[in-house]
Amino acid sequence: MKRYSSKSIKGKLDRLVGGFYRSRPCDHCRKDSPSCWAHIKSRRYLSTRWLPTNAFSLCNSCHRWAHDHPDSFTQWIDLYCPGRLKELQRAFNISEPIKKAWLEELYEKLKLELQ
Ligand SMILES: [Zn+2]
Repeated sequence: MKRYSSKSIKGKLDRLVGGFYRSRPCDHCRKDSPSCWAHIKSRRYLSTRWLPTNAFSLCNSCHRWAHDHPDSFTQWIDLYCPGRLKELQRAFNISEPIKKAWLEELYEKLKLELQ
């Protein structure tokens, strides 16, 4: 497996995952307008930053709606993806520090999954 610096593997993950979600129609309204890479848990948390369970493609107006109406957004996630919030919480609750090897493994896995 190719080795990257910590900074470079985070940048590669951001480009891979962000590019994927920005290129899809909005998951909420289904409009094919430019989408954001929207997160359920803030992107500042590395344990869940790049996980598909934490990501949606949202157009600007749906992204704003999600921020302005977090309870409605949570209800929509439960309807649209049952079980996803629990799965995300399990991934979020890991106690070990995030290691570069884990990021590299995640990158290789997501490269295959997000094609
Ligand atoms: Zn939308």
